[in-house]
Amino acid sequence: MIVVLLGAPGSGKGTQGGPLSAKFGLAHVATGDMFREHIKTGTELGQLAQSYLNSGALVPDEVTVRMVRERLQRPDATNGVILDGFPRTLPQATALDEALNDEGKQVDVVPCVSVSTDELLRRLGGRWICRASGHTYHIDSNPPKTAGVCDVDGSELYQREDDSIDVARKRLGIYFEQTGPVVDYYRGRGALVEVNGEQSIDEVFRDLAEALKARTEPTRAV
Ligand code: ADP
Ligand code: AMP
Repeated sequence: MIVVLLGAPGSGKGTQGGPLSAKFGLAHVATGDMFREHIKTGTELGQLAQSYLNSGALVPDEVTVRMVRERLQRPDATNGVILDGFPRTLPQATALDEALNDEGKQVDVVPCVSVSTDELLRRLGGRWICRASGHTYHIDSNPPKTAGVCDVDGSELYQREDDSIDVARKRLGIYFEQTGPVVDYYRGRGALVEVNGEQSIDEVFRDLAEALKARTEPTRAV
């Protein structure tokens, strides 16, 4: 199963992507996490991507598509993937179709998590992330048991520089401008499932899991 998890920065994709991928036995492929890992380890790709991430701009399509194509070749992706943060532009969406088509696959379901702009800014402004494994918290709505420490692995929590108000606003602008057409692209194909992201984390998870199940369980003829 190939799942494209759409939603603006701060809508909850990372929060839901891990548990969803575990439930359905899929690989969680988050392009933002991949770029941050490249930056952390100082690869050539990381050096190229850094200025784009710092300023909140998108990394060029060609570079991003190549990275995702390679990721999809890894053994853990053969069972299926949840793509989180990709595709973000129409050329990325068509490149994904081509890559999948080469292997006789297709995008099966595209849940799109919607959250108002004010709430997105509130969430990005209060987001704290685990340095070791990326577990995500919110200072008010999903706080860790001990401030600054990850509940899961005890590692340090940090705030992303691109979550600062100015860069966050810019990223949301880019989402509506460049990723909006991607939402329409999948809607036009009948693959889009709208999910209300302004519910509790558990309720959003339930709705996302429903959307994935509906695509995996064949409808029975009566
Ligand atoms: P994305 O990966 O889409 O950018 P995250 O999953 O990192 O978004 O979530 C952004 C912030 O919002 C995090 O601080 C997270 O704890 C918080 N959050 C996620 N889902 C919810 C929710 N349903 N209600 C309240 N806060 C949420
Ligand atoms: P995210 O973690 O999804 O919020 O992404 C963080 C940053 O990584 C974005 O602001 C972009 O600079 C870059 N990025 C992540 N995914 C993509 C993508 N599909 N295309 C281009 N840039 C991306």
